[in-house]
Amino acid sequence: MTNIGIDDLPVRDELRGKSPYGAPQLDTPVQLNTNENPYPLPEPLVERIAERVAEAARGLNRYPDRDAVELRTELAKYLTRSGKHPVAVENVWAANGSNEVIQQLLQTFGGPGRTAIGFEPSYSMHALIARGTGTGWISGPRNEDFTIDLAAAEQAIAEHAPDVVFITSPNNPTGTAVAAETVLALYEAAQAAKPSIVIVDEAYVEFSHRDSLLPLIEGRPNLVVSRTMSKAFGAAGLRLGYLAAHPAVVDAVQLVRLPYHLSAVTQATALAALEHTDTLLGYVEQLKQERDRLVTELRAIGYEVTESDANFVQFGRFEDSHTVWQQILDRGVLVRDNGVPGWLRVTAGTPAENDAFLDAVRQLKKEQS
Ligand code: PMP
Repeated sequence: MTNIGIDDLPVRDELRGKSPYGAPQLDTPVQLNTNENPYPLPEPLVERIAERVAEAARGLNRYPDRDAVELRTELAKYLTRSGKHPVAVENVWAANGSNEVIQQLLQTFGGPGRTAIGFEPSYSMHALIARGTGTGWISGPRNEDFTIDLAAAEQAIAEHAPDVVFITSPNNPTGTAVAAETVLALYEAAQAAKPSIVIVDEAYVEFSHRDSLLPLIEGRPNLVVSRTMSKAFGAAGLRLGYLAAHPAVVDAVQLVRLPYHLSAVTQATALAALEHTDTLLGYVEQLKQERDRLVTELRAIGYEVTESDANFVQFGRFEDSHTVWQQILDRGVLVRDNGVPGWLRVTAGTPAENDAFLDAVRQLKKEQS
């Protein structure tokens, strides 16, 4: 059994020598590394989940609603209310986290012989899911300040004619939001090069100063907006992501989704959470304030900070960001080294957690000056 590694197995060539997605899961007092919401679900919601799940449990001998119609209807209502744009159940699809939504989109619109482009640094799973689905990956450029370099992006799209274009707004790990005009220009470029699917990943949009780009799906059947309940709804453990797009896109992903992919327990829990949308989004306001406080304080300490529209902040610059990551960890605070040279990322936590982080970096700065 010993000394057998991945490469001794007949794994696909493109997976050889690669590493899995892996934010370190360490047992530190303060964990500000995976952009989770720090607030546990409120007790009345926990009770409602228990009720809804008990009800679902009585029917677990049966497969769940394969089309998750009740859940998609409630998600459509939430999107309509928050996105200032009418969304119907036919426009919405749900899966186990937006990672699965993205995987289904790449299985449908990417795949062997096809390519996807993202503007990096961005969410690393886009490239990893591309690899997992046999989709070629093209790394597009960004400006020095991490905004999208529109001219260079249009040129890259024209040159490579990708089948899928990823636009992450707000972007992870930089926090940068993308203007609607930029998305429209990239959509036009992508349609001109080859009719391709443009995926706007809005995992963090509830924390943004800007409105959702959701209204842009109107009249643009190749534009998809993906969302999640992992961040603003404070339900990362639930694993519920969803998309809004033209009904034809929803029909298309049916070709690759596994039958009954969304368990009855997941659907019941998500429905309970959606009943408490207003309470959950109340925490979003607090987190936005804490995010802004992190930006102000980090700048006051003397760090450079990238403008953030998300629930996290990218700060630097460091000659050796990994060493600084370790030094912060040694002080009991886990932040994220996303491999962006010179920068680290901290998630906005509770005021006490953010204080602990700010104390740690203040100390570090003092010691180094
Ligand atoms: N998109 C972005 C930009 C993210 O940062 C994340 C999670 N970190 C996801 C999608 C996936 O989230 P989930 O699968 O939990 O919905």
